[in-house]
Amino acid sequence: MGTCDYCGSQFQKTRATRKYCTNRCKTNACLDRKPCRIRAAEVQELYRLLDMEFESADELRERLRLILAPELPPIPYETGRVVIPRMD
Ligand SMILES: [Zn+2]
Repeated sequence: MGTCDYCGSQFQKTRATRKYCTNRCKTNACLDRKPCRIRAAEVQELYRLLDMEFESADELRERLRLILAPELPPIPYETGRVVIPRMD
């Protein structure tokens, strides 16, 4: 028996699955994983951040989130006039 790395349930280890009880858990674990490499376009965006001015640390965090983790919910910050650039 093994313990699923994602949901923690016990499952019978097979040649195909050693870490996850189901393909669904394997997929979910894959989606949760934070990438350890940054794409070139994202690096360019990070360099652009260096030249920007921010009204708060939260605004900077939100800019970073947009670049690195656009799938996560936005970080709220207080300011009315800033337009957030989109990466298209
Ligand atoms: Zn599982």
